[in-house]
Amino acid sequence: MAKKLGLKQKYQMMTRGLGWDTTYQSMDKVYPFDKFEGIKVHDWDAWEDPFRLTMDSYWKLQAEKERKLYAVIDSFAQNNGHLGISDPRYLNAVKLFIQGVSPLEYMAHRHFAHVARNIRGIGPAVAAQMQSLDELRHAQTQIHTISHYNKFFDGIHEWRHMHDRVWYLSVPKSFFDDAVTAGPFEFLTAISFSFEYLLTNLLFVPFMSGAAYNGDLATVTFGFSAQSDESRHMTLGLEVIKFLLEQDEANVPIIQRWLDKWFWRGYRLLTLVAMMMDYLLPKKIMSWQEAWEMYYEEAGGALFQDLARYGIKEPMSAAVARKEKNRLSSEAWAIFYQYTHAAAFHTWDIDEEHKAWLAEKYPETFDKLYRPRLDFWEKEAAAGRRFYNNALPQLCTVCQIPMGFTEPDDPTTICFRESEYKGEHYHFCSDGCKGIFDNEPEKYVQSWLPVHQIFQGNCGGASVEDVLKWYRMNLGADNLDFSGSPEDKFWSEWHRTASRAEAAE
Ligand code: FE
Ligand code: ZN
Repeated sequence: MAKKLGLKQKYQMMTRGLGWDTTYQSMDKVYPFDKFEGIKVHDWDAWEDPFRLTMDSYWKLQAEKERKLYAVIDSFAQNNGHLGISDPRYLNAVKLFIQGVSPLEYMAHRHFAHVARNIRGIGPAVAAQMQSLDELRHAQTQIHTISHYNKFFDGIHEWRHMHDRVWYLSVPKSFFDDAVTAGPFEFLTAISFSFEYLLTNLLFVPFMSGAAYNGDLATVTFGFSAQSDESRHMTLGLEVIKFLLEQDEANVPIIQRWLDKWFWRGYRLLTLVAMMMDYLLPKKIMSWQEAWEMYYEEAGGALFQDLARYGIKEPMSAAVARKEKNRLSSEAWAIFYQYTHAAAFHTWDIDEEHKAWLAEKYPETFDKLYRPRLDFWEKEAAAGRRFYNNALPQLCTVCQIPMGFTEPDDPTTICFRESEYKGEHYHFCSDGCKGIFDNEPEKYVQSWLPVHQIFQGNCGGASVEDVLKWYRMNLGADNLDFSGSPEDKFWSEWHRTASRAEAAE
């Protein structure tokens, strides 16, 4: 009679037991990608699996989560859940998410499958395989959840097409493209450790609390559904780093360089989150500065103290991020306010209550530096001259954000760095981005920079309108100021109808 396997045995058979050393072909031929980066691994069996999750229990667990999530999504749609959000301005955060983040989930799905195939340790390979499936699920559940809003709101209809073309979406796209074109260990350092472990709380917590505060039950539910996956991913990130640092001292400087690079790339990407928190959310959760202090400075500080025993130091540019924390969101908002005629989401003039909140959260910077500008724009708009900037901005060759950041020690001067490579000049927003370029210029000279591409005639034509059509934007609906947009009208119309119905009762 077959005896039931104990948990430990079952785990052994369902993970480690699935790997073997090849003999018809050499292991190096079968695994061609896990050595060229210079990372040395002597003993894959030293990998301590933190999850102890076998594939069969994984599927059961995930299926249960799916059932719960889809029940909520269905009832949200049937009950017109979109009418329960705080304010339609909130949805601009959702638009940015589906356009900028969901495509990265799908890329993560593809590349974790690649990693699972290409590292020879069976423990992390199984973890990467599971994460690949998680990421596919995240992309799908986000698409399904947000598709409901697409029936009523603008800017959500061509997110996949836009992701590959639109100027501000090249920021998240180039971040992930950089990671998937690296070797498997750099990818794990970039995505599993720097992004998922170190910085993910700064994406998911603000996003999901923002959704909760603003009545978006559907987004909260996919967030919760992803959360247990997320904690597995974070653990994988930390375990991979510790494992590699323990395997060989020669790995330390390689990993340090990747940490420096990916901390900065991840942080620059989070600029979009900073703007979302301080400007896009009608009901605020906390300021970007508070989130940075709580989720990076406190948690990250402790982590780097822990990693110091391997000789790892906190990334140098963390000091710059600290200096910028009271201006990042306002600098980003200034860019988007000026270029919202070319974006598939709306911006608007900031009302007095919101300004008071910003002044309270940013006492050293807001009243002095940013309020005057917002006041001026508001006056212009009131006089019928809503300001749109018609000059195309210069972009940073690495992070691809328009050059709107300021000197770490002077918030009134634009930060501008430059490198020369093979007779050509390249421009950067910061020492962080310049350092990344200077380490691997042959990679970043290939950057697909949206503004350069427009000037070279590769984006549908010479006028702004041609370019926006090539982006597949619905002009006059997806873009421009929120005030007077079709969404604005839809929302006030619906509220009029709703209050008439209430009055009639
Ligand atoms: Fe994910
Ligand atoms: Zn940059």
